[in-house]
Amino acid sequence: MIKAVRGTRDLLPPQTELWNFVEQTAREVFRGYHFQEIRTPVFEDLALFQRSVGEETDIVSKEMYTFEDRGRAASEPGQRLALRPENTAGVVRAYIEHKLWERPGVQKLYYMGPQFRRERPQKGRYRQFYQIGAEVIGPPSAGSESPARDAEVLTMLADLLDRLAIENWILELNSVGCAQDRPRYNEALRQALAPVVDKMCADCQRRAVTNPLRVFDCKVPQDQPIIATLPRISQFLDQGCRTHFAQVQEILQGAGVPFTLNDRLVRGLDYYTRTAFEFTHGALGAQNAILGGGRYDGLSEALGGPPAPGIGFAIGEDRVVLALEDAGRQVGRAADVYIAPLGAGMDTQAARLGRELRRAGIVVELGDESFRLKKSLETAAKTSARFAVILGENEAQSDVFALKHLASGEQVAVPRAELAARIKAGS
Ligand code: AMP
Repeated sequence: MIKAVRGTRDLLPPQTELWNFVEQTAREVFRGYHFQEIRTPVFEDLALFQRSVGEETDIVSKEMYTFEDRGRAASEPGQRLALRPENTAGVVRAYIEHKLWERPGVQKLYYMGPQFRRERPQKGRYRQFYQIGAEVIGPPSAGSESPARDAEVLTMLADLLDRLAIENWILELNSVGCAQDRPRYNEALRQALAPVVDKMCADCQRRAVTNPLRVFDCKVPQDQPIIATLPRISQFLDQGCRTHFAQVQEILQGAGVPFTLNDRLVRGLDYYTRTAFEFTHGALGAQNAILGGGRYDGLSEALGGPPAPGIGFAIGEDRVVLALEDAGRQVGRAADVYIAPLGAGMDTQAARLGRELRRAGIVVELGDESFRLKKSLETAAKTSARFAVILGENEAQSDVFALKHLASGEQVAVPRAELAARIKAGS
């Protein structure tokens, strides 16, 4: 038997109702902040991720699904492509390609869709997973560097989690400084790591040479006591970065968004600047990060674009759905009415009545004229419909139907013209 590939899953009803609920709520909250949707391709030129996410990251060095396209002619080499492991790169590429900076103001763009990483699958970690994310990006003259934009993005996220009724989330916040701060901090890290690095994992030994900031990504438990002793980025921020970070915090406090500072939260690439954040949720265990994000003021230029500071985030939708499931959340709508056609020719009558009721906004499940009344009512109960309408020869002729409330068993005769209103009133 052929099965779904390791790390991929089928999402089935009724769980898909929860997915739709999350996506619809996100769309509504984002609209309130005047974000608009962008959709970028699921695969891109491999070089895009090498340059944006970075070749030394686990994502690019180990986890990408890459493949070669066929060349246009047999002699021509094919383009190297990759399934997207994240969506910021695609959005910034589109920003540059379509010259979105020519549009007024900052661009406020959101996306939702599948991402692909060859990670070791476990609960909350998949090889095809779904992110809902947003980016604010634009020319500096449009205010894209302003701490007000950082605070706006964080406020939007707090609103979304509250609207989803995800309780007890924690916003962890840091500033990772800017290009001027980074060399001094890297040097301090290198010095601090030199005497201890041989006691650390192989990945950290490599990181200590190539990009010491990445040591903070280490999840190996034995390395954590060493990492705890390393110098913190907060000691190396220049005045501009300090002021920016203080302003972000001030606005968040004013807007009533709670946060905690965590100066070990870093992103190790040069164009990640200033604000970095993560929202965690205790119930998810090891995979407790539900979303992450930060500023990337140098990314557009790293991809050959104009100066376009930006800030964004990506929510792990799989993990949000898990958190809602763990909290016992159920959404979705049962059928309002089950139409039970009784006897030959009644499927046609049922189809006509069903269409009328659906036009009135009622959720209708249709039975089958070959079923006896008993089987029809049993089927109606299984679909969790609130009402059944019994539709036999007499009803079709008189246009008066038997409307049965399934929980109480109560039954009334209702003329066709009043049926929709009666069903709605009872739902
Ligand atoms: P990142 O793009 O790595 O910053 O991840 C942003 C969010 O996406 C994380 O906080 C997770 O919630 C989610 N995420 C990342 N990788 C996976 C994965 N393999 N499976 C499920 N969710 C993931």
